[in-house]
Amino acid sequence: MRRGRYAPSPTGGLHLGNARTALVAWWRARAARASFVLRVEDLDRPRTVPAAVHGNLAELRWLGLDWDEGPDVSGPYGPYLQSERTAAYEAALGRLTADGATFACWLSRKDLRELASAPHGPTPPYGRRERARNARAETAKRAAGRTPAVRLRVGPGTVAWTDRLAGPQAFDLEAEVGDLVLRRADGLFAYALAVVVDDAVMGIEEVVRGDDLLQATAAQIALQRALGLPTPAYAHVPLLLGPDGMRLSKRRGDRTLHALRDAGVRPERVVGLLAATLGLLPEPSETSAAELIDVGGAADLPRAPGRLTEAHETWLHGG
Ligand code: GLU
Repeated sequence: MRRGRYAPSPTGGLHLGNARTALVAWWRARAARASFVLRVEDLDRPRTVPAAVHGNLAELRWLGLDWDEGPDVSGPYGPYLQSERTAAYEAALGRLTADGATFACWLSRKDLRELASAPHGPTPPYGRRERARNARAETAKRAAGRTPAVRLRVGPGTVAWTDRLAGPQAFDLEAEVGDLVLRRADGLFAYALAVVVDDAVMGIEEVVRGDDLLQATAAQIALQRALGLPTPAYAHVPLLLGPDGMRLSKRRGDRTLHALRDAGVRPERVVGLLAATLGLLPEPSETSAAELIDVGGAADLPRAPGRLTEAHETWLHGG
């Protein structure tokens, strides 16, 4: 691997789970003597917290991570803020449309929910029933002045890859996800399109991210194929759970790095704790990120979620 990356979404302060994934991404790149790219995924304007765009960078630097390319240091493949890269997404969407791989989707979220057999459950895959309903809705929606979303038509078959951390993966995209949104009705490009275009343009060879995105990765591989782009290697890190067994949440402001910093916690404590939850250290001990570079091997990273304990929290705060 010659180029790795971490790509935070600045929808709030980074929490210990985000920091753990970032640490793995950085550590794997640095251990391989690869370049490390920091890209900020601030595409979803309504969800972006402006202060978090540079705030996230400061939080990662506080942790002891560094990068060769990023919004604050620039580089040959910039800009490194997705909000400034929309021309590339527009061009990719144009290519897919010219190939006949996309279609206009006039259905609102409410329409899709009405089609679902369990209207309060997860939205079912977008398939034959939704396409038929879309065809019937078009004239009226057009007359009402609505703007359609643009979707990628997903074909049958399995998307499979061998994940560098999570092992062999296989998804039947048509059955599990259905036709993918590429541009929303409000004009915003979907994250899947942006991430696929950016990782290819930036020459990223390994994508490290949380394993809550495994299914999203399958969809992105289908999109890479439709665009004729290479598929990078993937390494999905198991999530870090709170002492209550729940996923940490940015929205709730769970265990953020800036709160820890403000409470006087040393970054070496955070890194040491995260390294222990990753099996890189036998137990938490104050460690700089740089000291981890020559520790352990990727094969030793755990496959099960990490869990914070009360003892961890006590240790973080100097206990
Ligand atoms: N921006 C995504 C997030 O913060 C990460 C996606 C990725 O690594 O590709 O959840």
